[in-house]
Amino acid sequence: MTTIATQNLLQIKDVRQAFTKNDGKKLLVLEGVNMELHDKEIVALLGKSGSGKSTLLRIIAGLIEPSGGEVMFEGDKVTSLTRGISMVFQTFALFPWLTVLENVELGLEAQGLSEKEVRRRALDAIDLIGLDGYESAYPRELSGGMKQRVGFARAMVVNPEILLMDEPFSALDVLTAETLKTDFLDLWLERKIPIRSVLLVTHNIEEAVVLADRILIFSSNPGHVSSEIRVNLPHPRDRLAPEFANLVEEIYSLMTAKVKTKEVVVGTRVTDITLGERLPRTSPNQLAGLMEEIAAAPYNGHADLPALDNALQMSTEELFQIIEALRILRFAEVDKGDITLTEAGRKFVAADTQKRKSIFAEQLLKHIPLATYIKRVLNERPGNRANRMRFLTKLEDFMSEVEAREVLTAITSWGRYAEIFSYDDNSEVLSMENPTAED
Ligand code: ADP
Ligand code: MG
Repeated sequence: MTTIATQNLLQIKDVRQAFTKNDGKKLLVLEGVNMELHDKEIVALLGKSGSGKSTLLRIIAGLIEPSGGEVMFEGDKVTSLTRGISMVFQTFALFPWLTVLENVELGLEAQGLSEKEVRRRALDAIDLIGLDGYESAYPRELSGGMKQRVGFARAMVVNPEILLMDEPFSALDVLTAETLKTDFLDLWLERKIPIRSVLLVTHNIEEAVVLADRILIFSSNPGHVSSEIRVNLPHPRDRLAPEFANLVEEIYSLMTAKVKTKEVVVGTRVTDITLGERLPRTSPNQLAGLMEEIAAAPYNGHADLPALDNALQMSTEELFQIIEALRILRFAEVDKGDITLTEAGRKFVAADTQKRKSIFAEQLLKHIPLATYIKRVLNERPGNRANRMRFLTKLEDFMSEVEAREVLTAITSWGRYAEIFSYDDNSEVLSMENPTAED
């Protein structure tokens, strides 16, 4: 029987995932996720942190059942851990009391093989990934790179058809990560591993372009695949080639594209939905720093994002957070991989400290509904004070507790800087100075 489903190794159909938080409210993390994996391809899923990538991988691996939609593996619905799909974790996930060999053998435990066969296959996997001689070492005796090699060996020892990798290189230093990437790619290209398809989750654009045949851009709130890019460059890929740079540029542009906000129909919900906006965790100092950088030569107010990224001493993830903040505060506009300071941005850079604060306050109250909301609540309160819990609880209606805390941290540092309100770290009280009431 030939059906469309069997042509695709893996098919993800309309997957949706909502979590129930401690307070009983729902958090929608994934919605309308659709994608496929085919034979002989490495697919990179590229998205910002918190967009739901790990959640999606855990659904594919059968570790969690999605709230909606389905995952089909070779035509069968995945409902629990599935032989044929295995996973490499970001944090290695090794058992400290087991040796390298025992950690790798663990992968085979459920397969009902003879002890001898288990040993043979584990030793083969260890050999393949370059851990020969470390069989009896314990994880604490290994460097991060070697630990992750154990993670790879354990995932590959079962001869999976699909290998899921959750940011497997992001906990490693740059050089170690490069070596492991190259070693893995060699095994894959020389067909030394029988894996049919790899799904690599990453937030690193270059890593995706170096390794993948296809890149799926994953957007947040809720997480979904927003675009797809084919990478047809031959291996080994030259990062300095113009084609490579063009692709990186195109992806930057897609990742910073303005997110289409869902149309809000019911009038009274407007504030609620806009209050749920995720504010990137950045300080006014970081925002000012980047604006100054862009305003100065050689950019003079207008910069190419990949060029800017290369010139700065920060991670791409961090840069994106700052750019996102500048964008929502309308200090900058982002278009097709370029960033340009707005009138407000240029004024800010040119101003002195006190003037900067008032420009910041103006942007904040004009464009961030949460700032206006906090101001209004403090205004209405006796003594113009409120505990931060008051706002945290409100935010938790729209996002997870962790995110609510991050958003409140961001707005607190922005509002403080703009002198819209003050915040006392010890008492955790936000307050607004009200000169007329003091008279
Ligand atoms: P990513 O891997 O892209 O960084 P995750 O999938 O880890 O994103 O998380 C996406 C969102 O889902 C986050 O807001 C996170 O707090 C939330 N989340 C993940 N797992 C759970 C869970 N078990 N319960 C509640 N919320 C969760
Ligand atoms: Mg993750």
